[in-house]
Amino acid sequence: MKEQIYMLVKLQGIETEAGNIKSILNGAQKKLETLDAGLMEFEKTVEEQESIIEGLKKKYRDYESDARISLDREKKTQAKLRSVKTNREYQSLLKEIEEEKAKNSEIEEKMIECLDRMDETEKIIAMTKDEYLQLSHSVMNEKEIIKQESEQGRIKLSKLDKDREKISCMIDPELLKKYLMIKKQNPEGLAVVPVKDALCHGCNVNLPPQLYNELFLGDSLKFCPNCQRIIYLKES
Ligand SMILES: [Zn+2]
Repeated sequence: MKEQIYMLVKLQGIETEAGNIKSILNGAQKKLETLDAGLMEFEKTVEEQESIIEGLKKKYRDYESDARISLDREKKTQAKLRSVKTNREYQSLLKEIEEEKAKNSEIEEKMIECLDRMDETEKIIAMTKDEYLQLSHSVMNEKEIIKQESEQGRIKLSKLDKDREKISCMIDPELLKKYLMIKKQNPEGLAVVPVKDALCHGCNVNLPPQLYNELFLGDSLKFCPNCQRIIYLKES
């Protein structure tokens, strides 16, 4: 029985290690996703800013055509000025010219504002692209490290799987069945636990003296009466 329990403890050790590696691999996968999401965030920002610039460019072209029309109108009114007959007509044309001029300078202001905003946006894009470049470089390195670590993890895992198979074959099927059942009830914890100084290390409760004494014989399978786990004597 001692030998069998020893195999069970070994099996449990292998399964625990495999579980740890699996959770590391899962973590690595999530980390890769997070890194990609970080890069995507930058790409999205650049795209948004570029579409803002496109909008501004279109707006600027519209202002340009407005300005041309307004200037044209002003020139035409100026030309009319030369052939007016009455002072009243003259004054009215002057007023029209003034209005056109005011409109024009308003458009010009808007054009300048538009250019300023384009400038600012270009700066943001350049900055974002710069940060993106730096980030993508460090992401690349980090990904490489994660991939290498994951590869090592997978190699280790397949070795552990083989070890597990080998050991499982050496354990009495009935005992293995009991072990798996107890393990199912303790998915986070252990199914086989050591006892030291009459204390069960699965639940930290003292064993009855008789059971503890029987453990020393090591000739039959024993369970902790409190947590129902398989117990074995841990020699100090
Ligand atoms: Zn216990």
